[in-house]
Amino acid sequence: TATHANREECQGWQETEVMMPSTRTTKRYRVEDLEEAAQRLRDGAAIAFPTDTVYGLGANALDPTAIARVFEAKGRPQDNPLIVHVSDPTKLQRVAANVPEIARSLIAAYWPGPLTLLLPKSNSLPPSVTAGLSTVAVRMPSDPIALELIRRADVPIVAPSANLSGRPSATTWEAVVEDLDGRIDGVVCGPATRIGVESTVLDVLHEPPRLLRHGAISLQTLQPILPEIIDASHGSEAGHGATPPSPGMKHRHNQPKARVEIWDGADREGAANHDKGSRRGWIGVEAPPASVGYAKVVVCANADDYAAQLYETFRRMDQAEIDVIDCQAVPRHGIGAAIMDRLERASSRA
Ligand code: AMP
Ligand code: MG
Repeated sequence: TATHANREECQGWQETEVMMPSTRTTKRYRVEDLEEAAQRLRDGAAIAFPTDTVYGLGANALDPTAIARVFEAKGRPQDNPLIVHVSDPTKLQRVAANVPEIARSLIAAYWPGPLTLLLPKSNSLPPSVTAGLSTVAVRMPSDPIALELIRRADVPIVAPSANLSGRPSATTWEAVVEDLDGRIDGVVCGPATRIGVESTVLDVLHEPPRLLRHGAISLQTLQPILPEIIDASHGSEAGHGATPPSPGMKHRHNQPKARVEIWDGADREGAANHDKGSRRGWIGVEAPPASVGYAKVVVCANADDYAAQLYETFRRMDQAEIDVIDCQAVPRHGIGAAIMDRLERASSRA
């Protein structure tokens, strides 16, 4: 099958780029059977599960061996810190040294939901979780499966996106299996994720507050609570010398094997005529230009649907051996800013 063929390709990719053996048995958990998954998580296993944003690779945030397992399974650079997930704001004291007033207001307004906040790190959290930083990134997801699993595990749970580092994030359990089968202990086989792009990351410890990563909670949404907020998602504007405000921003992200091109509406046919021999795919909120022959077309209902379908489309296009994916540009407001950010990262081969 196509899935099987693609899995073999992915393993070839792992061998050259990650060089890790895949020897674990990855158990499939039904969403009705969360108790066993929760117990194993608490005991140090690495188990993927759905959240409101993308599938996360969960592990006990208080267990350094479990944390190491997450970095190893993903092939994630050690200097890229993890987001800690809690089932309830009252559980923050196990993770954060304190919760500033402004963070409390944001938690009251947006949790559970796709908003990650930086807080001063608690000493009880292993340094590997935060890659040695003095701050910890935390959120409470709104997905009922995620919340139930974390609540039952009864420990804070790190959950970076459940994909091989550099590959598109997984928004279905099948995508988790495609990347991580044999490398992790389990996967909770829930539905496709609702939002489809990673959480908004916000640093309110900094003056002025800064947005470190675009997500479903947009800059415009946050402005009434944080009128001074700046967009530091590109890393250089933050004015902190050579240190990027969020280490993950410098790493390769969400790249399919196909080349990603952003279509802003200008000279569509002209650009496509450049490489006539390539198999092209299209994703956008409108139908593609009829004059360009597309081998695979995904037309989304609106920007929210675009975000929800983006990563799965990247994976499907790779399975269909598309060479170039034309991704329609969208206005940078609401979820559109997150879509454009992910497209820009996916299209840069630097
Ligand atoms: P992922 O878990 O793959 O969604 O990536 C987590 C993102 O959060 C990365 O971009 C990290 O750099 C960022 N992040 C996590 N912890 C911190 C922190 N303490 N300070 C700044 N950024 C962080
Ligand atoms: Mg990720």
